[in-house]
Amino acid sequence: MPKLTVINYHYIAESLEQSYGNCLLVDEFEVQLKYLRDNFKIISANQLTELGESNYCLLTFDDSLKDHFNNVLPLFRKYGLNGFFSIITNTLEGRKINPTHKVHILFKNLAAKEFAGLINKSLKENFSHDYRKYLIDDKEKLDKRYVWDDSLTANIKYMLAVMPFEMKEMILDNLFKECHINESEIFDKYYLNEDEIKALIAYKNDIGSHGHNHLRLSKLTKEDQGFEIKESKRILEEKFSIKISGFSYPFGDYNQQTIEILRQAGYKFGISTIPKVNEGIENVYQIYRIDNKTFFKDKL
Ligand SMILES: [Zn+2]
Repeated sequence: MPKLTVINYHYIAESLEQSYGNCLLVDEFEVQLKYLRDNFKIISANQLTELGESNYCLLTFDDSLKDHFNNVLPLFRKYGLNGFFSIITNTLEGRKINPTHKVHILFKNLAAKEFAGLINKSLKENFSHDYRKYLIDDKEKLDKRYVWDDSLTANIKYMLAVMPFEMKEMILDNLFKECHINESEIFDKYYLNEDEIKALIAYKNDIGSHGHNHLRLSKLTKEDQGFEIKESKRILEEKFSIKISGFSYPFGDYNQQTIEILRQAGYKFGISTIPKVNEGIENVYQIYRIDNKTFFKDKL
């Protein structure tokens, strides 16, 4: 039975100053690549269906980040490796930064205490009712899954994740204004553009979808899920003249309906964030994947 370890990466930067949140430095990434190359057979996503008896590894990169062109591609070329890059297609259509990433950018600009204070202020000023349950404090960590964060930081992330989308968008826009952050300037430095995605494709990397708007799919209606899944596929296939067969679930969130829609839309596999090694592939729409930080915690 093939053994497949799928590892997930997000920000990979030259220095901490140049990056956001949970970032891995290029030097650390290179050490990890050497370790993986020595211990696994590193494959591309389109080989998933033809695995033999070996110990495989697939490297995945979510969120359409510019880091992946600037810092991953050069090392892939150096070592002759490739991976799976999942794209948020909305970033190819407009120049709006995704709310998830606005949160990362605000964390870089604000201390957690300040950040929580501004959210609470914006809630009180703009939402006359139904806002109280979203007010943030650090009394207890509301979601234990934010293992790397202190309780105030975890609660900021949690509240922004559970509040209604419109509320979240409005609050984040307010905070960007309040902090004098120039969205379009950051946009260009932040996301992959079409030429950079073409360069990734030219070096035999696989491109997949990470949804059109990077939403929690299980929280959407069937129609809205369908849009996220099909529209992103359509855009990628049209823009890059390639076949899209892989989907990486935003936030690792999906339900049975998601899988049904993926299958109907012609996707061949879906990558989760269930942190396990795949012993064979039981369900192609639920491929297990481990975050690099977790995977390397006791290794290097
Ligand atoms: Zn994501």
